[in-house]
Amino acid sequence: MTQAIHNFSAGPCILPPSVLSQASQAVHDLDGMGLSLIEISHRSKAFVDIMEEARSLVRSELNLPGRYEVLFLQGGASLGFLTAAMNFIPEGGSMDYAVTGTWAKKALKEAKRIGGAQALSSSEETGFDRIPALPSSSAADFVHITTNNTIYGTQYGADPVIDTPMVADMSSDIFSRPVDIEKYACIYAGAQKNMGPAGTVLYIYDTERIGKTGRDIPSYLDLAVHADKDSMFNTPPVFAVYTSMLTLRWLKDNGGVEGARDRNAAKAACIYGEIDRNPLFNGFADPGSRSVMNATFTAADDAHTSAFLAACDEAGISGIKGHRSVGGFRASMYNALPLASVEVLVEVMREFERTRG
Ligand SMILES: *Cc1c(COP(=O)(O)O)cnc(C)c1O
Repeated sequence: MTQAIHNFSAGPCILPPSVLSQASQAVHDLDGMGLSLIEISHRSKAFVDIMEEARSLVRSELNLPGRYEVLFLQGGASLGFLTAAMNFIPEGGSMDYAVTGTWAKKALKEAKRIGGAQALSSSEETGFDRIPALPSSSAADFVHITTNNTIYGTQYGADPVIDTPMVADMSSDIFSRPVDIEKYACIYAGAQKNMGPAGTVLYIYDTERIGKTGRDIPSYLDLAVHADKDSMFNTPPVFAVYTSMLTLRWLKDNGGVEGARDRNAAKAACIYGEIDRNPLFNGFADPGSRSVMNATFTAADDAHTSAFLAACDEAGISGIKGHRSVGGFRASMYNALPLASVEVLVEVMREFERTRG
Protein backbone atom coordinates (compact mmCIF):
# COMPACT_ATOMS: atom_id res chain seq x y z
CA MET A 1 0.00 0.00 0.00
CA THR A 2 1.25 3.47 -0.76
CA GLN A 3 1.85 5.78 2.18
CA ALA A 4 -0.80 8.39 2.99
CA ILE A 5 0.36 11.88 2.00
CA HIS A 6 -0.36 14.85 4.24
CA ASN A 7 -0.60 17.82 1.91
CA PHE A 8 0.49 21.09 3.54
CA SER A 9 1.06 22.89 0.22
CA ALA A 10 0.58 26.68 0.28
CA GLY A 11 -1.11 26.76 -3.10
CA PRO A 12 -2.30 25.29 -5.31
CA CYS A 13 -3.28 23.14 -2.42
CA ILE A 14 -5.26 20.29 -0.98
CA LEU A 15 -8.87 19.74 -2.07
CA PRO A 16 -11.35 17.28 -0.55
CA PRO A 17 -10.87 13.74 -1.97
CA SER A 18 -14.57 13.57 -2.90
CA VAL A 19 -14.17 16.74 -4.97
CA LEU A 20 -11.17 15.30 -6.81
CA SER A 21 -13.03 12.13 -7.72
CA GLN A 22 -16.17 13.96 -8.87
CA ALA A 23 -14.09 16.43 -10.89
CA SER A 24 -12.13 13.67 -12.60
CA GLN A 25 -15.33 11.76 -13.34
CA ALA A 26 -16.81 14.89 -14.95
CA VAL A 27 -13.79 15.22 -17.22
CA HIS A 28 -14.75 11.79 -18.61
CA ASP A 29 -18.51 12.08 -18.46
CA LEU A 30 -20.48 14.96 -16.97
CA ASP A 31 -23.54 13.67 -15.08
CA GLY A 32 -24.08 10.74 -17.46
CA MET A 33 -24.37 12.99 -20.54
CA GLY A 34 -21.77 10.97 -22.42
CA LEU A 35 -19.76 14.16 -22.86
CA SER A 36 -16.87 15.66 -20.95
CA LEU A 37 -17.26 18.82 -18.90
CA ILE A 38 -14.42 20.30 -20.96
CA GLU A 39 -15.88 19.49 -24.38
CA ILE A 40 -19.33 21.05 -24.11
CA SER A 41 -20.39 24.60 -24.85
CA HIS A 42 -20.20 27.01 -21.95
CA ARG A 43 -23.57 28.24 -23.26
CA SER A 44 -25.13 24.79 -22.84
CA LYS A 45 -27.75 24.41 -20.14
CA ALA A 46 -25.47 21.95 -18.32
CA PHE A 47 -22.70 24.49 -17.92
CA VAL A 48 -24.91 27.52 -17.32
CA ASP A 49 -26.45 25.54 -14.45
CA ILE A 50 -22.97 24.86 -13.03
CA MET A 51 -22.00 28.53 -13.19
CA GLU A 52 -25.28 29.56 -11.56
CA GLU A 53 -24.92 26.97 -8.80
CA ALA A 54 -21.35 28.14 -8.10
CA ARG A 55 -22.46 31.79 -7.88
CA SER A 56 -25.44 30.91 -5.76
CA LEU A 57 -23.34 28.81 -3.34
CA VAL A 58 -21.02 31.79 -2.83
CA ARG A 59 -24.09 33.89 -2.00
CA SER A 60 -25.57 31.41 0.42
CA GLU A 61 -22.33 30.33 2.13
CA LEU A 62 -21.22 33.94 2.74
CA ASN A 63 -24.75 35.13 3.44
CA LEU A 64 -24.49 37.92 0.86
CA PRO A 65 -27.12 40.66 0.76
CA GLY A 66 -28.89 40.82 -2.63
CA ARG A 67 -26.99 43.88 -3.80
CA TYR A 68 -23.69 41.98 -3.88
CA GLU A 69 -22.59 40.56 -7.24
CA VAL A 70 -20.59 37.34 -7.66
CA LEU A 71 -18.28 36.66 -10.63
CA PHE A 72 -15.84 33.90 -11.57
CA LEU A 73 -13.23 35.43 -13.87
CA GLN A 74 -9.69 34.72 -15.04
CA GLY A 75 -6.31 36.32 -14.46
CA GLY A 76 -5.84 35.25 -10.86
CA ALA A 77 -5.60 37.51 -7.87
CA SER A 78 -2.62 39.16 -9.54
CA LEU A 79 -4.91 40.72 -12.15
CA GLY A 80 -7.34 41.41 -9.30
CA PHE A 81 -4.84 43.90 -7.88
CA LEU A 82 -5.31 46.07 -10.97
CA THR A 83 -8.98 45.27 -11.56
CA ALA A 84 -9.95 46.25 -8.01
CA ALA A 85 -8.06 49.53 -8.26
CA MET A 86 -9.56 50.40 -11.68
CA ASN A 87 -13.13 49.66 -10.63
CA PHE A 88 -13.10 51.37 -7.25
CA ILE A 89 -10.57 54.23 -7.01
CA PRO A 90 -12.41 57.31 -8.29
CA GLU A 91 -10.62 59.75 -10.59
CA GLY A 92 -9.20 62.26 -8.11
CA GLY A 93 -9.89 59.90 -5.21
CA SER A 94 -7.75 57.32 -3.50
CA MET A 95 -7.36 53.93 -1.87
CA ASP A 96 -5.18 53.37 1.22
CA TYR A 97 -3.22 50.10 1.38
CA ALA A 98 -2.28 48.15 4.48
CA VAL A 99 1.07 46.73 3.40
CA THR A 100 1.32 43.47 5.32
CA GLY A 101 3.32 41.27 2.95
CA THR A 102 4.47 40.48 -0.55
CA TRP A 103 0.98 40.24 -2.06
CA ALA A 104 -0.14 43.48 -0.42
CA LYS A 105 2.92 45.22 -1.83
CA LYS A 106 2.13 43.92 -5.29
CA ALA A 107 -1.47 45.10 -4.96
CA LEU A 108 -0.27 48.62 -4.13
CA LYS A 109 2.22 48.57 -7.00
CA GLU A 110 -0.55 47.82 -9.52
CA ALA A 111 -2.90 50.39 -8.00
CA LYS A 112 -0.25 53.09 -8.32
CA ARG A 113 -0.50 52.67 -12.09
CA ILE A 114 -4.06 53.97 -11.77
CA GLY A 115 -3.09 56.73 -9.35
CA GLY A 116 -4.51 57.69 -5.98
CA ALA A 117 -3.02 54.75 -4.09
CA GLN A 118 -0.73 54.93 -1.07
CA ALA A 119 0.45 52.88 1.88
CA LEU A 120 -1.56 53.35 5.05
CA SER A 121 0.71 51.26 7.23
CA SER A 122 3.42 48.67 6.74
CA SER A 123 5.06 45.94 8.75
CA GLU A 124 7.98 45.58 6.34
CA GLU A 125 10.43 46.91 8.94
CA THR A 126 9.86 43.86 11.11
CA GLY A 127 9.95 41.46 8.16
CA PHE A 128 6.15 41.34 7.83
CA ASP A 129 5.90 39.33 11.03
CA ARG A 130 2.73 41.15 12.19
CA ILE A 131 -0.40 43.02 11.15
CA PRO A 132 -0.36 46.66 12.28
CA ALA A 133 -3.69 47.86 13.69
CA LEU A 134 -5.78 49.91 11.27
CA PRO A 135 -7.01 53.39 12.21
CA SER A 136 -10.74 53.70 12.92
CA SER A 137 -11.22 55.54 9.63
CA SER A 138 -9.20 56.83 6.70
CA ALA A 139 -9.48 59.92 4.49
CA ALA A 140 -9.29 57.71 1.39
CA ASP A 141 -12.36 56.42 -0.45
CA PHE A 142 -11.39 52.81 0.30
CA VAL A 143 -8.93 50.85 2.40
CA HIS A 144 -7.33 47.78 0.84
CA ILE A 145 -6.31 44.86 3.04
CA THR A 146 -4.87 41.40 2.48
CA THR A 147 -6.80 39.38 5.05
CA ASN A 148 -4.31 36.51 5.21
CA ASN A 149 -0.64 36.87 4.32
CA THR A 150 0.09 33.46 2.85
CA ILE A 151 3.87 33.83 2.77
CA TYR A 152 4.46 35.24 6.26
CA GLY A 153 1.67 33.42 8.07
CA THR A 154 -0.14 36.46 9.45
CA GLN A 155 -3.86 37.17 9.38
CA TYR A 156 -6.38 39.68 10.71
CA GLY A 157 -7.99 37.94 13.67
CA ALA A 158 -11.40 39.23 12.55
CA ASP A 159 -12.85 41.75 10.08
CA PRO A 160 -11.15 45.06 10.95
CA VAL A 161 -13.22 47.72 12.66
CA ILE A 162 -12.96 50.72 10.35
CA ASP A 163 -15.51 53.21 8.99
CA THR A 164 -14.05 53.34 5.49
CA PRO A 165 -15.32 50.66 3.09
CA MET A 166 -12.72 48.01 2.43
CA VAL A 167 -11.46 46.19 -0.64
CA ALA A 168 -9.87 42.88 0.31
CA ASP A 169 -7.65 40.25 -1.24
CA MET A 170 -8.97 37.13 0.52
CA SER A 171 -7.15 34.64 -1.72
CA SER A 172 -5.84 32.50 1.08
CA ASP A 173 -8.62 32.62 3.67
CA ILE A 174 -11.91 32.99 1.81
CA PHE A 175 -14.48 30.51 3.16
CA SER A 176 -12.29 29.75 6.18
CA ARG A 177 -14.63 31.71 8.49
CA PRO A 178 -17.71 33.96 8.36
CA VAL A 179 -17.19 37.45 6.93
CA ASP A 180 -18.93 40.68 7.94
CA ILE A 181 -19.69 41.40 4.30
CA GLU A 182 -21.15 44.89 4.75
CA LYS A 183 -17.67 46.18 5.61
CA TYR A 184 -16.42 45.28 2.13
CA ALA A 185 -17.02 47.08 -1.14
CA CYS A 186 -15.16 44.31 -2.93
CA ILE A 187 -13.53 40.98 -2.16
CA TYR A 188 -11.40 39.08 -4.64
CA ALA A 189 -9.75 35.70 -4.22
CA GLY A 190 -7.79 33.36 -6.46
CA ALA A 191 -9.46 29.95 -6.25
CA GLN A 192 -6.37 27.84 -5.68
CA LYS A 193 -5.84 28.46 -1.95
CA ASN A 194 -9.13 27.49 -0.39
CA MET A 195 -11.77 27.03 -3.06
CA GLY A 196 -10.60 25.03 -6.06
CA PRO A 197 -7.92 24.64 -8.70
CA ALA A 198 -5.97 27.49 -10.27
CA GLY A 199 -7.65 29.18 -13.21
CA THR A 200 -10.42 31.28 -11.76
CA VAL A 201 -10.65 34.23 -9.42
CA LEU A 202 -13.74 35.06 -7.44
CA TYR A 203 -15.00 38.64 -7.26
CA ILE A 204 -17.70 39.69 -4.82
CA TYR A 205 -18.69 43.35 -4.79
CA ASP A 206 -21.32 45.80 -3.71
CA THR A 207 -23.18 46.94 -6.85
CA GLU A 208 -24.02 50.23 -5.16
CA ARG A 209 -20.35 51.15 -5.03
CA ILE A 210 -19.36 50.29 -8.59
CA GLY A 211 -19.43 52.43 -11.75
CA LYS A 212 -18.55 55.60 -9.87
CA THR A 213 -14.91 56.10 -10.86
CA GLY A 214 -15.43 58.38 -13.87
CA ARG A 215 -12.82 56.25 -15.65
CA ASP A 216 -13.07 54.54 -19.02
CA ILE A 217 -12.33 50.93 -18.07
CA PRO A 218 -11.30 48.39 -20.76
CA SER A 219 -14.15 45.89 -21.22
CA TYR A 220 -12.36 42.87 -19.85
CA LEU A 221 -11.31 44.72 -16.68
CA ASP A 222 -14.74 46.23 -16.09
CA LEU A 223 -16.58 44.16 -13.48
CA ALA A 224 -19.93 45.60 -14.55
CA VAL A 225 -19.40 44.25 -18.09
CA HIS A 226 -18.93 40.75 -16.68
CA ALA A 227 -21.91 41.12 -14.36
CA ASP A 228 -24.10 42.19 -17.25
CA LYS A 229 -23.26 38.87 -18.96
CA ASP A 230 -23.76 36.75 -15.81
CA SER A 231 -20.03 36.00 -15.59
CA MET A 232 -20.05 34.72 -19.21
CA PHE A 233 -18.68 37.72 -21.10
CA ASN A 234 -16.26 35.30 -22.72
CA THR A 235 -15.53 31.60 -22.29
CA PRO A 236 -15.18 30.99 -18.56
CA PRO A 237 -12.54 28.60 -17.14
CA VAL A 238 -15.03 25.74 -17.06
CA PHE A 239 -12.98 23.17 -15.15
CA ALA A 240 -11.93 25.64 -12.45
CA VAL A 241 -15.49 26.90 -12.02
CA TYR A 242 -16.93 23.37 -11.87
CA THR A 243 -14.36 22.17 -9.33
CA SER A 244 -14.85 25.30 -7.21
CA MET A 245 -18.59 24.62 -7.28
CA LEU A 246 -17.95 21.07 -6.02
CA THR A 247 -15.78 22.41 -3.20
CA LEU A 248 -18.51 24.88 -2.25
CA ARG A 249 -21.04 22.02 -2.13
CA TRP A 250 -18.62 20.15 0.11
CA LEU A 251 -18.28 23.20 2.34
CA LYS A 252 -22.05 23.50 2.61
CA ASP A 253 -22.39 19.80 3.49
CA ASN A 254 -19.75 20.20 6.20
CA GLY A 255 -21.24 22.96 8.30
CA GLY A 256 -20.48 25.93 6.02
CA VAL A 257 -18.04 28.65 7.03
CA GLU A 258 -18.91 28.22 10.72
CA GLY A 259 -17.92 24.55 10.55
CA ALA A 260 -14.75 25.48 8.66
CA ARG A 261 -13.90 28.13 11.26
CA ASP A 262 -14.19 25.63 14.11
CA ARG A 263 -12.13 22.95 12.36
CA ASN A 264 -9.49 25.52 11.34
CA ALA A 265 -9.26 26.81 14.93
CA ALA A 266 -8.66 23.26 16.20
CA LYS A 267 -5.89 22.68 13.64
CA ALA A 268 -4.25 26.03 14.46
CA ALA A 269 -4.38 25.35 18.20
CA CYS A 270 -2.72 21.98 17.60
CA ILE A 271 0.24 23.29 15.57
CA TYR A 272 0.84 26.53 17.48
CA GLY A 273 0.63 24.68 20.78
CA GLU A 274 3.49 22.48 19.65
CA ILE A 275 5.51 25.36 18.16
CA ASP A 276 5.29 27.16 21.52
CA ARG A 277 6.04 24.07 23.59
CA ASN A 278 8.84 22.50 21.59
CA PRO A 279 12.24 24.16 22.31
CA LEU A 280 13.58 23.05 18.91
CA PHE A 281 11.21 25.33 16.98
CA ASN A 282 10.37 29.05 16.93
CA GLY A 283 7.19 30.61 15.58
CA PHE A 284 7.81 33.29 12.94
CA ALA A 285 4.70 35.48 13.20
CA ASP A 286 3.98 37.66 16.20
CA PRO A 287 1.51 35.62 18.31
CA GLY A 288 -1.16 38.35 18.04
CA SER A 289 -1.11 38.16 14.24
CA ARG A 290 -0.84 34.42 13.68
CA SER A 291 -2.63 32.95 10.70
CA VAL A 292 -5.03 30.07 11.11
CA MET A 293 -4.32 29.09 7.50
CA ASN A 294 -0.51 29.19 7.25
CA ALA A 295 1.67 28.52 10.30
CA THR A 296 5.25 29.71 9.73
CA PHE A 297 8.08 28.49 11.96
CA THR A 298 11.81 27.87 11.92
CA ALA A 299 14.25 25.51 13.59
CA ALA A 300 15.84 27.09 16.68
CA ASP A 301 19.12 25.70 15.34
CA ASP A 302 19.29 26.23 11.58
CA ALA A 303 21.53 23.18 11.32
CA HIS A 304 18.35 21.16 12.01
CA THR A 305 16.36 22.56 9.09
CA SER A 306 17.22 20.00 6.44
CA ALA A 307 17.00 17.09 8.90
CA PHE A 308 13.50 18.14 9.91
CA LEU A 309 12.43 18.44 6.26
CA ALA A 310 13.75 14.91 5.73
CA ALA A 311 11.84 13.64 8.78
CA CYS A 312 8.66 15.21 7.40
CA ASP A 313 9.24 13.63 4.02
CA GLU A 314 9.67 10.26 5.70
CA ALA A 315 6.30 10.68 7.43
CA GLY A 316 4.51 11.53 4.17
CA ILE A 317 4.29 15.24 4.98
CA SER A 318 4.39 17.23 1.75
CA GLY A 319 4.73 20.95 1.01
CA ILE A 320 6.13 21.98 4.41
CA LYS A 321 9.20 23.90 3.22
CA GLY A 322 8.90 27.61 4.03
CA HIS A 323 8.75 30.31 1.37
CA ARG A 324 12.24 31.50 0.42
CA SER A 325 11.60 34.94 1.94
CA VAL A 326 10.98 33.47 5.42
CA GLY A 327 12.88 30.16 5.31
CA GLY A 328 12.18 27.34 7.74
CA PHE A 329 8.77 25.75 7.50
CA ARG A 330 5.22 26.64 6.61
CA ALA A 331 2.28 24.40 7.43
CA SER A 332 -0.63 25.48 5.24
CA MET A 333 -3.85 24.18 6.74
CA TYR A 334 -6.59 25.08 4.28
CA ASN A 335 -10.18 23.94 4.71
CA ALA A 336 -9.68 20.49 3.17
CA LEU A 337 -6.72 19.54 5.39
CA PRO A 338 -7.86 17.17 8.15
CA LEU A 339 -6.84 17.68 11.78
CA ALA A 340 -5.28 14.20 11.62
CA SER A 341 -2.62 15.52 9.21
CA VAL A 342 -1.69 18.28 11.67
CA GLU A 343 -1.45 15.65 14.41
CA VAL A 344 0.98 13.66 12.27
CA LEU A 345 3.12 16.80 11.84
CA VAL A 346 3.06 17.48 15.59
CA GLU A 347 4.11 13.89 16.26
CA VAL A 348 7.09 14.32 13.90
CA MET A 349 8.06 17.51 15.80
CA ARG A 350 7.88 15.63 19.12
CA GLU A 351 9.90 12.75 17.80
CA PHE A 352 12.45 15.25 16.48
CA GLU A 353 12.77 16.68 19.98
CA ARG A 354 13.21 13.20 21.49
CA THR A 355 15.98 12.29 19.06
CA ARG A 356 17.73 15.67 18.60
CA GLY A 357 16.84 17.73 21.64
C1 LIG B 1 -1.46 33.35 -3.98
C2 LIG B 1 -1.90 34.71 -3.65
C3 LIG B 1 -2.05 35.70 -4.64
C4 LIG B 1 -1.70 35.46 -6.09
O1 LIG B 1 -2.70 34.73 -6.70
P1 LIG B 1 -2.66 34.38 -8.26
O2 LIG B 1 -4.01 33.79 -8.46
O3 LIG B 1 -1.54 33.43 -8.45
O4 LIG B 1 -2.45 35.64 -9.01
C5 LIG B 1 -2.49 36.93 -4.26
N1 LIG B 1 -2.80 37.21 -2.98
C6 LIG B 1 -2.67 36.29 -2.01
C7 LIG B 1 -3.03 36.64 -0.61
C8 LIG B 1 -2.21 35.01 -2.31
O5 LIG B 1 -2.09 34.09 -1.34
